Amino acid sequence: MELTGIRFLDELAVENRPVFCRVDFNVPLDGKRVRDDARIQGALPTILALRQAGARLVLASHLGRPKGGADPAFSLEPCATRLAELLDDEIRFADDCVGEGVMRLVKDLPAGSVAVLENLRFHPAEKKGDPDFARLLAQPFQVYVNDAFGTCHRADASMYTMVQHFQDKGAGLLVQRELEFLGRLLANPQRPFLAVLGGAKVSDKIGVIRSLIERCDALLIGGAMAYTLLKAKGIEVGKSLVETDKLDLARELLSLADSRRTELLLPSDHVVAPSLESDTVMVTEGAEIPVDQAGFDVGPQTIERFTQKVGQAGTIFWNGPLGVFEKDLFRAGTHAMAEAIANSPAVSVVGGGDSAAAVKKAGFTDRISHVSTGGGASLEFIEGKSLPGIEALRAGHQF
Ligand code: ADP
Ligand code: MG
Repeated sequence: MELTGIRFLDELAVENRPVFCRVDFNVPLDGKRVRDDARIQGALPTILALRQAGARLVLASHLGRPKGGADPAFSLEPCATRLAELLDDEIRFADDCVGEGVMRLVKDLPAGSVAVLENLRFHPAEKKGDPDFARLLAQPFQVYVNDAFGTCHRADASMYTMVQHFQDKGAGLLVQRELEFLGRLLANPQRPFLAVLGGAKVSDKIGVIRSLIERCDALLIGGAMAYTLLKAKGIEVGKSLVETDKLDLARELLSLADSRRTELLLPSDHVVAPSLESDTVMVTEGAEIPVDQAGFDVGPQTIERFTQKVGQAGTIFWNGPLGVFEKDLFRAGTHAMAEAIANSPAVSVVGGGDSAAAVKKAGFTDRISHVSTGGGASLEFIEGKSLPGIEALRAGHQF
């Protein structure tokens, strides 16, 4: 993806102008309190920079999946309260994201002040990218900033449709960082370029697997998706999760790797159990799994092979846990991968909600070059798809 034609914060004139900044405040709530403020903290650099530059700054976000209209359980007010604490400043809150109240609030907002709008998804028109709603959203503002990377693969009104009303538009610091790191994976990664994939299903990630086979030097696969590929190679995988309707596709991916000369490493041993609930586990001797057992993690020999590969890489991209890391009995593979990547001097990028959580749980977030804030968005980016939220920012983009 080209970054040409996209402006960043330091290229936008914001002083004393009303700025609409789309952030990701989609945080977990405990009643009226924010349970985990990581995403609010993540937006702080952009908020501080815009406030410092004298913007009349208004933040907007979605939160959760309110059904069909305003629902106090999904209010953004707790986010405004938490932001006020973090900034040690007064934050104004508008109880809707469009309308008279917002017009007045923006008009009265002094330069260097910050306000938060109510949940965008209280209007079903937001998710539909509705043009009339988008026009109303844009109306009070002169500048548009997108700092919500995790939603950039959606053509929602606040991400895409409303942007057509702005000459002055750009990416915030979080989005800029995502574009720089993810962009490097596509443009000219330091070789060998190694990708590690895991997670639940092959079918979730077909496009990504294909794209990575074409781009990288070696692909390591673990997690449940490995069993569909092993089965496609004729290896017995017992009761492990297999997508039987994806076996042909798995064979096609194996032969694509062959013809592209991309080294494809699959697990050569496994941690198995009769079911996820059993409290005794076994390690297999080789790649085969007994018929009454299922694989829930990669085994020690696989960890060693994978770790060694990671140690030789110039660039690493990781998406998807190598086992059921939520359970202590099956977290060794995922933990070892997080540790191997943390120890590697390579440029490393981790994408995916569960993968990022696994890295955090293992305590290695600070030793990874970049942990992406966008699950679906980062995967679509790696696939080489264009993201509506990013395309909208380009100068001269035709809506
Ligand atoms: P991400 O969110 O990082 O993209 P996914 O959502 O694709 O990752 O996959 C994460 C899920 O995959 C986890 O809940 C994990 O328990 C599950 N998983 C990994 N390995 C296995 C396995 N062998 N069997 C069943 N589930 C697995
Ligand atoms: Mg997930």
